[in-house]
Amino acid sequence: MTRIIRVDHSRLDEQLREAVEILRRGGLVVFPTETVYGLGADAYIPQAVEKIFRVKGRPQDNPLIVHISGMDMLHRVASEVPKAAYRAAEKLWPGPFTMVLPRGDVPPIVSAGLDTVAVRMPGHRVALRLIELLADPIAAPSANRSGRPSPTSAQHVVEDLYGLVDLILDDGETLYGVESTVVDFTTDPPTLLRPGPLTPEELMEILGTELEIPEYARGLGHTGVARSPGVKYRHYSPRAEVVLIEMDDYKDLGRLVERVMEELNHLQGRSVVILATDETRDRYMGLGVPVLSLGSRSDPYTIAKNLFAMLREADRLGAEFVLVEGVEERGIGLTIMNRLRKAASRRVSV
Ligand code: AMP
Ligand code: MG
Repeated sequence: MTRIIRVDHSRLDEQLREAVEILRRGGLVVFPTETVYGLGADAYIPQAVEKIFRVKGRPQDNPLIVHISGMDMLHRVASEVPKAAYRAAEKLWPGPFTMVLPRGDVPPIVSAGLDTVAVRMPGHRVALRLIELLADPIAAPSANRSGRPSPTSAQHVVEDLYGLVDLILDDGETLYGVESTVVDFTTDPPTLLRPGPLTPEELMEILGTELEIPEYARGLGHTGVARSPGVKYRHYSPRAEVVLIEMDDYKDLGRLVERVMEELNHLQGRSVVILATDETRDRYMGLGVPVLSLGSRSDPYTIAKNLFAMLREADRLGAEFVLVEGVEERGIGLTIMNRLRKAASRRVSV
């Protein structure tokens, strides 16, 4: 049985008491964060962490992020915190920022056997308070079935995990709608493993260091020997096949629209949904296929926030194929393109 509790901030501690009891017993609790919903277990109960892999269908070699509520916990879960990482934590936590550090006393299963650990202090009242009340770090990946788009609402979690988890804490839509930025501090300079809400430009400015940005952080290139095991798996995909239409720059949107229409022609007789932007959506009207807008190109944070919900919406509309327009790979656009390239079964360059 899965219980769903609608979060009432005026009696949060009382509601979280039940969640804490479940976690102490080795159960699974889905909780909201500012990025996406997380599927949490007490990081110090290996059998509970094992359950996370099972209910998600997550490959055993893909490590989890450990969520903490204070710096005391950081020094438990990491065996060593380099100065640069410490400074980053001071500036960016709580927030949508994950650091990879040498692993401390957390059970190996959390890190899928690696000698490193990924750590984050979430910037969400419910998540932080839950960890504080548990007084133990919570291991939590995104609360979706492995390979599916990450959940940005409790409804998405219900679609994927109802009946498989003990409790879902529903606090509405998440703020960013994409997963945290992951940076590996065991290298010098640090390496961007996964782009997220904090952009590399912002990070370099705030941290005052260079960042290595490998091809796989852009969602490109061969990822078989990637340092972050998660990057080699298919991700974020709806049931429909995603076809991504990309440009070097997006100055001539007319050409982009033409190319999308060409793809649509090849798919005659199949059910297709177009994921467009505010700037282009009207140009697809009258084609007889549903057109959804991700948002305006002038407001890419909104596009990031809508992305996973729109991919799920395409499924709900019965799409066999989703034709998605790419966005400029700058700032948060890097994060959007990373997710879209991994979701795509085919990429078309204009
Ligand atoms: P998720 O929690 O589903 O958003 O996925 C966590 C991401 O962090 C995955 O891409 C993992 O591969 C990555 N990650 C977690 N732990 C580590 C680690 N110790 N080293 C490198 N990457 C990690
Ligand atoms: Mg995930």
